[in-house]
Amino acid sequence: TTRRIARALVSVYEKEGLEELARAFVQAGTQVVSTGSTATTLESMGVQVTPVEKVTGFPESLGGRVKTLDPHIHAGILADMTNPDHARQLKDLEIQPFDLVVVNLYPFAQTVLSGADPAACLEKIDIGGPAMVRAAAKNNASVAIVTDSADYSLAAERVSSGTGFDLAERQALAAKAFAMTAAYDAAIAEWTAEHWSCTTEDGSNQTVASGNLTRTWNLSHELRYGENPHQHAALYLDPLDRTGFASANQLGGAKAMSYNNYVDADSAWRTVWDFADRPAVAVVKHSNPCGLAIGETIAQAHLKAHACDPMSAYGGVIAANRPVTLAMAKQVKPIFTEVIVAPDYEDEALDLLKTKKNLRILKVERPPRHLPFLRPIDGGVLVQSEDLIDAPGDNPDSWRLVSGPEPDDRTMSDLMFAWRAIRSVKSNAILLAHDGATVGIGMGQVNRVDSSHLAVERANTLAEGLNRAKGSVAASDAFFPFADGLEYLAEAGVVAAVHPGGSIRDEEVIEAAKKAGMTMYLTGTRHFFH
Ligand code: 5GP
Repeated sequence: TTRRIARALVSVYEKEGLEELARAFVQAGTQVVSTGSTATTLESMGVQVTPVEKVTGFPESLGGRVKTLDPHIHAGILADMTNPDHARQLKDLEIQPFDLVVVNLYPFAQTVLSGADPAACLEKIDIGGPAMVRAAAKNNASVAIVTDSADYSLAAERVSSGTGFDLAERQALAAKAFAMTAAYDAAIAEWTAEHWSCTTEDGSNQTVASGNLTRTWNLSHELRYGENPHQHAALYLDPLDRTGFASANQLGGAKAMSYNNYVDADSAWRTVWDFADRPAVAVVKHSNPCGLAIGETIAQAHLKAHACDPMSAYGGVIAANRPVTLAMAKQVKPIFTEVIVAPDYEDEALDLLKTKKNLRILKVERPPRHLPFLRPIDGGVLVQSEDLIDAPGDNPDSWRLVSGPEPDDRTMSDLMFAWRAIRSVKSNAILLAHDGATVGIGMGQVNRVDSSHLAVERANTLAEGLNRAKGSVAASDAFFPFADGLEYLAEAGVVAAVHPGGSIRDEEVIEAAKKAGMTMYLTGTRHFFH
């Protein structure tokens, strides 16, 4: 099944690393057919090249759009020389077969990343290249396809040894080639979906069903392990995005980001941007906030967020939505923290944080983008748009006051803060807030009463200054199915609550609130988060 490489077709955008292969062509007397500047490059390396026009009888035209798209080339790639009929036809047509095709494509993704205008990006969609790659990969019975410069050495060896590639090698190369063109096309589809499809004003796809799901990710690097040490893990990046959280710049910390670090820091980073208009800090553990606050300054926000649950903050991840100041860095210094993520750092703050050698310091260029969320399930994938803080019920003007007095401004802004904050807490979530900060969070319980207990217990025992439940406000991510959870909050001294409503026992819950003299709003929308 091996075939000597008598004739090769080479058409590469990236010319780096061809020397060894060129030497092998010369040594083996391989006939080489090549496109414009690839031919020039190979000639400068001493290879005698047949220009592609000589084979096609047609000039490279339309500014390079048509070079190799020609039956004289494609019949030469696609003829299965193990099939006598193909061999005979090729002879009749006076076309010579290729044994090796070496192609790499126009750098579409890199062009998009460079910020080039759409016309320039469009021009970098390679047409003839993928056609050759796919043709050669399909016809791996006869042809070897090389698309990765990492395979040039092997190719050079197979050319000069005169043995060619065996079938298993050609199949492996073909599989790699098809994966490459698939990823290439997925990047084009992602870009065109963004530029040409109907998008809403904030840039998100109107419906996930019409959204582009042919997204692809390129391997960035393998992680030491996954969620647990016996799990394998790797980070893949969107080929068209180098500014997101996944591409964060690590400015400090001896160790690389772990899988869990990425999960928690991404969660914290998304959370603080729900409060984009004010300095906000989130402290996250196991992708749940154990403290979240807004402040006049970023240092103040951190102080308040940390005070919510100093015990849980140990070994946590901190996110800030404003540059970290020296004042904040001084507060962070004594706290054992795995990761800190922020848009920037004051020089002195960075210097101070860098003295903690186990603290991973991340700088991210821009706030998170809101793309549809994918969740693989066995045999498929679930897709949903992100739960953004602009749901109809997030606007307090649409809230319905169903119990108690109209709150004063401070209580009202705490209710608004609590409702916004609850979005980042895993269901079932009960969140107590006071003065723009969480003071007790009950998360991830399988019933709402347990979450209420947890929130109150944390507010009353963990926080600095005991009994912080008293006088706080509460948010619940979904309705209270029974009055018990709310009654418990009322007993603990919670003065106001906000939740979606919509339970068949709403009246019982409202009665309980009225009995306690508690202010209660219904939002009509919920913020489940699993
Ligand atoms: P060169 O630099 O040799 O002039 O061109 C090499 C590049 O052209 C390769 O990236 C190859 O994929 C691409 N290419 C080869 N043939 C065609 C064609 O017919 N149309 C287009 N658009 N690109 C081609």
